[in-house]
Amino acid sequence: MNKGFVYLVGAGPGRADLITVRGAEVIKKADCIIYDKLANPTLLKYARPDAEIIHVPKRIGKGSTTQQEINRLLAEKAVNGRIVVRLKGGDPCIFGRIGEELEVLNAEGVGYEIIPGITAGVALSSYSGIMLTDRQYSSQVTFITGHEAEGKKDSSMDWSTLAKTSGSLVFYMGIGNLDIISSQLIENGLPADTPAAVVADITFPTQRIAEGNIANIQEKCELKKIKPPALIVIGQAAKDYEELNWFMKQPLFGKNILVTRDEPGNIDFGEKIIERGGNPVSFPTFQIKSLTDTTEFLQTLTKLSDYDWVIFTSQNGVKVFFEAIGKLNKDARVFSSAKIACIGPQTEATLNQFAIKADFVPSVFTSEQFGMQLLEFTKLKDKKILLLRSEIASDELVEILKKANAKVDDVSTYTAIMQKNETAYLEEKINNREIDWITFASPSAVQGFFDNINIEIINSSPIKIASVGPVTSKELEQKGVKVDVTANEHTFNGLLDAIEQACSNK
Ligand code: SAH
Repeated sequence: MNKGFVYLVGAGPGRADLITVRGAEVIKKADCIIYDKLANPTLLKYARPDAEIIHVPKRIGKGSTTQQEINRLLAEKAVNGRIVVRLKGGDPCIFGRIGEELEVLNAEGVGYEIIPGITAGVALSSYSGIMLTDRQYSSQVTFITGHEAEGKKDSSMDWSTLAKTSGSLVFYMGIGNLDIISSQLIENGLPADTPAAVVADITFPTQRIAEGNIANIQEKCELKKIKPPALIVIGQAAKDYEELNWFMKQPLFGKNILVTRDEPGNIDFGEKIIERGGNPVSFPTFQIKSLTDTTEFLQTLTKLSDYDWVIFTSQNGVKVFFEAIGKLNKDARVFSSAKIACIGPQTEATLNQFAIKADFVPSVFTSEQFGMQLLEFTKLKDKKILLLRSEIASDELVEILKKANAKVDDVSTYTAIMQKNETAYLEEKINNREIDWITFASPSAVQGFFDNINIEIINSSPIKIASVGPVTSKELEQKGVKVDVTANEHTFNGLLDAIEQACSNK
């Protein structure tokens, strides 16, 4: 059997899209992915569905048993002829114990490639404004492990040299030894008022900074409840950085935003929240399922050319449609001369992904407005209209179209089933004030959410409610929930614009 191959990949500092293009590419082809605590699990979205995923949360501290286990696992998987990705936080070669893993691979004769990543210390400057080098105050940077500070016998820490080093000192793995690091530096002559900062969760929406000087930084960290992973920066760089801290100044930075769609929908929406600096918290409320009986749907697909108009009312409707025609070995020509309408820009954007342009999208996206505006746009009398949508959609639109004497076929393409969730985790977050906003992107999400969570818990909390549009807001109000903002543009971005606006009005 051929020996396999190992890619040792730097996952970058945290935020998933900071991995390199090459890193993401090799994840896509891996048979087996071994990842540790610091590598963002979101990166597994690139993995093949059949890839074996192994999580190795390496213990920080003494003893190398776990590291030895990882080395063995790596060699074993590769020797068995597989393509293995070893995904490591930051850069694999910076405090990554990669040497031990490579030694084993060399001994076994397994080939490998190392793909660099952005190390936490480098991302720190970009994401906090703490400029480790600056021609005015720092012409050098030293990366140090804080893990050895407690005086390991074979420690190579040279405190007197470090205390004399000008420029910026950056300690990795140092939070547990912060008091020792400070006192050693002070004892060895570094002035106690030297600026110090500790930055935790760099590049994540939960990034936090404690700042002070080397004498009081430990106390400042306790006040800010700083926990690992975090870097300690010592030197002039650690002060007056706020102006350059674009990341933590984003309007949604630090806001915990609950997303309540189906799981894949929550991931999509979550990415948009992360792009604006917010922290998405996922609580799936429903699942999109294929129909058990697809006969009517599949038959309809073979006679699409009979229709004057085909109407899509959701992204899911579009996705399910194209999946189905793909399976029938057909392509977009099935539409023939039929015109296409979408209920809103989100659905239109999904349609565009399949290189189809909508002939009509209303300016206001309720069923009622859709029907009325379509009537203004074109005559519907005796026209054959096909609605392709969820099994649980309301009848309102059909009624309006029928009143205009159109011939309407309302065909279900998928169904949404409500999801029962573990609620204790979310209720605890709500009680601890760890949720700032709850977003609702459809009436089904409202239904699914309040099937799980008691309205009183929400109404008695300071949590704000954001809705994607008037139909969803109406559903919320009928349930007795006060809606704080309703998006003007009924898309995810519109929803986030509305939240940003509300945050900046405060
Ligand atoms: N190879 C990694 C470092 C591994 S050592 C890299 O290149 O970044 C683990 C230490 O890295 C942590 O204890 C912490 O000090 C630092 N670290 C890694 N990711 C971090 C993050 N997102 N925020 C703050 N510190 C981080």
